Amino acid sequence: MAIETTVQTFQNLINGEWINSTGNATFESINPANRSDIVGRFQSSVEEDVVLAIESAERAFQTWRNVAPSKRAEILYKAADLLEAGLEQYALELTREEGKTLASSRMEVKRSAQTLRYYAFEGLNISGETLPSDDPTTSIYTKKEPLGVVTVITPWNFPISIPARKIAPALVTGNTVVFKPASDTPLIALRLVQALHEAGLPAGVLNFVTGSASRTGHTLVTHPAVKAVTFTGSTGAGETIQRSVRLSTRIQLELGGKNPLLVMEDANVEQAAELAIKGGFELTGQACTGTSRVIVMDEVHDRFVRALVEKTGKLSVGDGCCQGVEIGPLANASQLKNVLEYIEIGKAEGAELVYGGEQLTNGDYAHGYFVRPAIFTNVKPTMRIAQEEIFGPVISVIRVSSFQEAIEIANNVEYGLSAAICTTDPARIQHFVNNVQAGVVKVNRPTTGNAPQVPFGGVKMSSTATYRESGRGALEFYTQIKSVYHGV
Ligand code: NAP
Repeated sequence: MAIETTVQTFQNLINGEWINSTGNATFESINPANRSDIVGRFQSSVEEDVVLAIESAERAFQTWRNVAPSKRAEILYKAADLLEAGLEQYALELTREEGKTLASSRMEVKRSAQTLRYYAFEGLNISGETLPSDDPTTSIYTKKEPLGVVTVITPWNFPISIPARKIAPALVTGNTVVFKPASDTPLIALRLVQALHEAGLPAGVLNFVTGSASRTGHTLVTHPAVKAVTFTGSTGAGETIQRSVRLSTRIQLELGGKNPLLVMEDANVEQAAELAIKGGFELTGQACTGTSRVIVMDEVHDRFVRALVEKTGKLSVGDGCCQGVEIGPLANASQLKNVLEYIEIGKAEGAELVYGGEQLTNGDYAHGYFVRPAIFTNVKPTMRIAQEEIFGPVISVIRVSSFQEAIEIANNVEYGLSAAICTTDPARIQHFVNNVQAGVVKVNRPTTGNAPQVPFGGVKMSSTATYRESGRGALEFYTQIKSVYHGV
């Protein structure tokens, strides 16, 4: 795949203008499959840039909140068309920046356009209610109003679809936005901003500030004009944000996972192995809903492990831009380090590494962050590899002898994002759905994947217990209720 050789420098979008950071410094976004490929240079923003962006959003809110909802929707529809028109370019940029395969990148860009359209439509369905009144001369009703300036902070693993599912409902409900993308994937985030800007968003309604969280993060979440913070990322960063926000700032945190797939004795073992691979290794295991633990009944354990190892052995690891590649690189150097450390931790804990786990360094692999997907068996539920989020292509297989034990192990972690079961037994399915501690439950489907119209979020340490993302319910986060008593 040919790679552009000229490196472009991109700017922040503040008050409708593409401008440099006041600090006048830039950083590089690097291709994790080939470190010598510089995808672009971006503004290393400082606190002053963030303040300018927030003030611009605050001013723009005064008019944007009163723009006709149908006009706001029109802009989202147009931006969706622009994203789709640039699909091939944007998919390639996403792969170069994040590493996932081109097929996954295409899907993500399409999903982002779909999300914009979904909220363009749903934005016209926001409604209050009328309520009974003891006084016949007074009508009582509620209306939903925007909050004001919303800060959007997103991770690198779904670098356009997660921003889309936050920014679209924020804008369509009349809020203005300051958006800081992950420093590993600013270009594809910028493409979303560009599409919305070109679709006709007025100046200041959406502001885009790139650069390290260490210089921008605190102001983004604590500035008094910020009325809401929506964040997706690691649990550690989420906890820091939660501790720093003001009492009056609404907050939504989507965090980590340690997602289990249960394989029952009546499961189709071949299908179960495919689901484990799809959930655990696709996207190089870098999905918050990725399958990290496979909890397998004794009766099918050995057959399942054989199928899993055999199928994993056929996966092609490489540059996501190349035809036939199914597993791309890890997204950055610290991801690689982290995954390799967990492989060593698993071995030291006494788990058996039955497949993969080694860094790939020969030939073209030498230029990127490649690791062969790893399968551990003989994993005890208390081991660190069975408890902590690894966020890489590492599956821990845990053998169990009863359904009850499987459910207990599934629940005995601090996270509760997604959980899946492979079985045909309706009673077990019902029990699993009712008792597993997870915000998303799948039956004979991978732990990964969620549709824009479906609420998304977790329980325990995976999410704040405030508002779900995605679906109609997401609009609740971006609106507040006003109760009106209307007499004659
Ligand atoms: P991360 O290190 O927490 O970073 C996420 C975003 O937050 C980045 O934009 C980062 O900026 C910024 N950030 C970091 N610390 C911050 C702070 N103290 N204040 C304000 N902003 C801060 O996470 P990541 O490595 O990008 O993503 C992987 C994590 O995201 C995993 O734990 C995964 O499970 C989670 N995730 C969750 C979901 C979900 O919906 N539940 C979805 C996807 C991913 P910089 O890039 O500049 O550091």
